Amino acid sequence: MKRLALLVLFFSFLLTACGTAPSPSPTVTAVEGSIFAMDTEMSFTVYGTQEDLTAVTRTIFDLDAKLSVTRSESPVARLNAQGSAEADDDLISLTQYAREIGDATGGALDVTLYPIVKAWGFTTGEHTVPDGNTIAALLEKVDYSAMEVTGTTIALPAGTEVDFGALAKGYAGERCAKLLRERGVTSAILRLSGNIQTVGTKPDGSAWRVGIQDPAGGSEDLLGILEVADRAVVTSGGYQRYFVEDGVTYHHIMDPATGSPARSGLTSVTIISDSGTWADGLSTALFVMGREKALAYWQTHRDFEAVLAEETGDVWITPGLKDTFTLSAKSYVLHTLEE
Ligand code: AMP
Ligand code: MG
Repeated sequence: MKRLALLVLFFSFLLTACGTAPSPSPTVTAVEGSIFAMDTEMSFTVYGTQEDLTAVTRTIFDLDAKLSVTRSESPVARLNAQGSAEADDDLISLTQYAREIGDATGGALDVTLYPIVKAWGFTTGEHTVPDGNTIAALLEKVDYSAMEVTGTTIALPAGTEVDFGALAKGYAGERCAKLLRERGVTSAILRLSGNIQTVGTKPDGSAWRVGIQDPAGGSEDLLGILEVADRAVVTSGGYQRYFVEDGVTYHHIMDPATGSPARSGLTSVTIISDSGTWADGLSTALFVMGREKALAYWQTHRDFEAVLAEETGDVWITPGLKDTFTLSAKSYVLHTLEE
């Protein structure tokens, strides 16, 4: 997905660079960078200065160091090991987002699923299918509403552990977009793996074109293309991390009701939102909820847009995407939700 989005954007950048599209300001140049952070490759195109790009990479490395569950000295690792830890503004904000999105989605997003995610081996790559008793025992400690914030301290009940992995990249993108806007940048695209954060439009005033990967295809196959400006586009899909055992595929998005990979009939969920954190949280949660509940959720909230792909080969889009989403994969049937 990231590579495709990159290709599409690189091509449109070439067109601009070749002079086929007008640029309002000849002084705006693209600064490009890529890093490995939050366990994934990220790449950035910022129409600004090298300092603007450095501000982005610093912010992401800093967040990665704070939120890592595997670096023992990180505040989140300390919180998990000791049951409480001093938290800075980022950690407090993330905890609040996690509670809000958990509440809004009826617990479909639950950042305290971490012990379950570990039991399936998704943190180490040593994948196993845990037995029912193990899952049941671990599920007893899963409850995001038990996270307690008192002043600058976060506390967890004994045995409860958190991982903000379902939100962290969206949060990082949102933070960096805010930072860039404050620095006067009006055009940038930040690709944090499957999380795309845009700032403004392309320098020529046209929308960014973001490719969504076909969940049933290879990494180069597109489900469709979205045109966006100034928003986050975040995709969660079972194809992003999985393992196969005895012919069964197990992916990394867990249903908090069962402690096992969500089997909702959805193969990917893309959320378009002003808030990268909400886009990231909702893409995970709506994947767990399945098509019917996800579309019902949209009906009552309507402050985001969504693209849902189903195992059946149906693709559902919310009405706001009617003119900005183009289906590429001919094997799918496109449905637009009624207003
Ligand atoms: P994402 O890629 O944003 O959909 O987030 C998936 C990651 O978040 C997984 O790799 C797990 O570490 C964690 N996770 C899995 N299922 C959930 C869930 N239902 N709620 C919160 N975090 C989850
Ligand atoms: Mg997510």
